[in-house]
Amino acid sequence: MKNVTLIYGDGIGKEVMSSAVEVIKATGADINFEEEIAGLEAVEKYGEPLPKKVIDSIKKNKVALKGPVTTPVGKGFRSVNVTLRKELNLYANVRPVKTYEGLKNRYEDIDLVIIRENTEGLYAGIEKEIEGGAETTRLITKEASKRIAKYAFELARRESRKMVTALHKANICKLTDRVFLDAVNEVHKDYPEIELNDLIIDAACMNLVMYPEKYDVLLATNLFGDIVSDLCAGLIGGLGLTTGSNIGKDGAIFEAVHGSAPDIAGKDIANPTACILAGAKMLNYIGYEKEAKKIENAIEGLIKEGKYLTKDLGGNLGTKEFTKRVIERLQ
Ligand code: NAD
Repeated sequence: MKNVTLIYGDGIGKEVMSSAVEVIKATGADINFEEEIAGLEAVEKYGEPLPKKVIDSIKKNKVALKGPVTTPVGKGFRSVNVTLRKELNLYANVRPVKTYEGLKNRYEDIDLVIIRENTEGLYAGIEKEIEGGAETTRLITKEASKRIAKYAFELARRESRKMVTALHKANICKLTDRVFLDAVNEVHKDYPEIELNDLIIDAACMNLVMYPEKYDVLLATNLFGDIVSDLCAGLIGGLGLTTGSNIGKDGAIFEAVHGSAPDIAGKDIANPTACILAGAKMLNYIGYEKEAKKIENAIEGLIKEGKYLTKDLGGNLGTKEFTKRVIERLQ
């Protein structure tokens, strides 16, 4: 039996994460979920969004499945996600984006993965008020850039991918993005079979919308990776489908790319697919590869069949009903 820390999260978190837990249990994987509370619910109960016991639980279990957590905009507590990633040194955020057969879409044949540096950049939390405004420091180090580049090239090699594209703004951020690009080029020397190119982030956004099928592995610093992830999610049908794995040397947190979606919370209309697939990634990580594959096949089959879909994908099923259909398809 494996212990896994479970955080339901805020907004649609309870709904979509309950689906993920139900589906995981239905695969027969022997997992003991250790439930912890983070986010708004934790503020109400414990007076803080990320109690130490949550971090202790993840450090002990070395793996967590996490729902989306609300972060107040422009005030209030620091993002739980950013704090967790930093505290646990989960330096690689891995976000695969693939078109689903059967889903009405503007694009075909997208199969890319975004590797986002997760611990520094504009998310390093170095922010202060200055006279007449405020200032944020964008921290880019050689060490963290080399570490994330190595992760990207290793993944490319493991998954037989052919090309890594580094995203940057080195024409403007001449120092920080030079550090990043130099590190990527240095690491690339050990991976001669993989093509490396780079793109300025604004041009990358246009190219991704026009020719997404041309890209393979996108390697980016923290903020650019975050923005491009949502853009790419939109290319394949929206945030209901994409997962983000936060990987470190000593552990990992698996989650959806989407947030707590307060606009649809409590209505049983959220698409639980991203959280269910995050569950599959988590199962794979802890050695339940067969169970993970069962889930991925069930989702692919269901989407391909096209009869039972949630609203965001053009269907009319609610969260609970869709979850039932996924479970029926597990073989
Ligand atoms: P969001 O991802 O919550 O929602 C963006 C849009 O996508 C909304 O219209 C929403 O209804 C839709 N959407 C999202 N998930 C969906 C799903 N599963 N099914 C169907 N539609 C879905 O982004 P936001 O509104 O910018 O952020 C809301 C809150 O979530 C903020 O507090 C933000 O900080 C937080 N957030 C948390 C995480 C995380 O915990 N990993 C990630 C992103 C945002």
